[in-house]
Amino acid sequence: EVRVRFAPSPTGFLHLGGLRTALYNYIFAKKYGGSFILRLEDTDQSRLVPGAAESIEDMLEWAGIPPDESPRQGGPVGPYLQSQRLDLYSQTARELVESGHAYYCFCSSQRLELLKKEALRSGQTPRYDNRCRHLRADQVEEKLAKGVPHVIRFRLEAGVEPFQDLIFGWNRHEVAQVEGDPVVIKADGFPTYHLANIVDDHYMKVSHVLRGSEWLISTSKHLLMYRALGWKPPTFGHLPLLMNKDDITTNCGSGFNTNRIGRRIDELITEFNPSKITTHSALLDLEKLPEFNRIHLQQRIEDEERCRLLIKDLQGQIHQAYAAEIQGKEVLHEDYIRRVLQLRKGHISSLKDLLSPDYSYLWVRPSLSSQQVAALTAEAQHIASLVLQLVEDRGGELAVDRLNKDLKTLAKQAKTTKYREVMKLLRLALSGLQQGPSVAEMMVSLGPAEISHRFQKLLE
Ligand code: GLU
Repeated sequence: EVRVRFAPSPTGFLHLGGLRTALYNYIFAKKYGGSFILRLEDTDQSRLVPGAAESIEDMLEWAGIPPDESPRQGGPVGPYLQSQRLDLYSQTARELVESGHAYYCFCSSQRLELLKKEALRSGQTPRYDNRCRHLRADQVEEKLAKGVPHVIRFRLEAGVEPFQDLIFGWNRHEVAQVEGDPVVIKADGFPTYHLANIVDDHYMKVSHVLRGSEWLISTSKHLLMYRALGWKPPTFGHLPLLMNKDDITTNCGSGFNTNRIGRRIDELITEFNPSKITTHSALLDLEKLPEFNRIHLQQRIEDEERCRLLIKDLQGQIHQAYAAEIQGKEVLHEDYIRRVLQLRKGHISSLKDLLSPDYSYLWVRPSLSSQQVAALTAEAQHIASLVLQLVEDRGGELAVDRLNKDLKTLAKQAKTTKYREVMKLLRLALSGLQQGPSVAEMMVSLGPAEISHRFQKLLE
């Protein structure tokens, strides 16, 4: 059974790299009919950020990749929060001590600091010298009885076996040669990442560990721990890191049979092919974000149900931006907003675009003074009635090309006003603006009802 997990530390909010790791895990799980687990690795209590845990789970749901098992969802192998599994880690650490694979270390922080300084002075990488490995059992007993502060360290053995990474192929890091024995239980009784991570992967029956390639060199150490505990390790696959340019998240690092933007999650699952994930870092091109958003927004507008949510969202935003200036409820009406979205899709990359000054005429009716109008032409009422007639003749079907022709004909019917003045008047009556989108475009966006409303004003 395929079981994969996304195991972020709630030390901040989900960033793009994390989201991408989660996405690969989700796709992998769904591709092979397995489960996608969210586990929060909150053992570094000093780095916790309030609200981060909640927001990570919210983000996964928002992104459309909800976990099957999680702190919020629960599940058969919970709890899914490491801080609630402390007993399991200390019990495992005790087992390791009893079997001789781990030991108590009483070295003071001053001593460790000194070791570090000495190493740096002689140009070496600092590492623990494994001194407490050699304490006799009675010495350990005595210090424990006295309550000397201590950590538990894992005894790194030489002779690491190679493992086959799903993405990077055969790998092996002779950790004992480069590192001192790592701490598995800290002085505060909390486990370190390395211990908690493998204990959970084991007890949560994780079959595949898919994570960022920064963990590739730690994997040999983890495998030594699995061996010491007599556990079967999961299969590992390390995802290349996100760096800078390229197509956004999933195209980064590849792994799909085709490369297109705007794919739905089910299409990603079908096209997923782990053997296509490359080992070089993926380059991220943030300049492509608006383009991705534009395509994504267009897809949402074309989906009736999701469009309804967009309308709600936009209604709220318009209300907030223009509350005092909105005169008629009509511009907040679902049908009105839907039509605007249908017309603007493919041109906007965010709903916010529709709140820019260029589009304010859509939401705010102009207030024209009679002097303003009179300064333009004495024929304002005549022209207004011609426009009303035109809209009625067209029966609600307004298109830019056709309107451009219609407006030329209309202008000819004015007796004393020139074409340019007619257009000025129309622009003013439609938007209160001196410049902006073409008159025909504005008319198409506003639609017959709103045009009529705005020209009716000139007749009053
Ligand atoms: N908590 C680790 C992280 O934040 C998890 C690494 C792993 O997936 O093993 O990256």
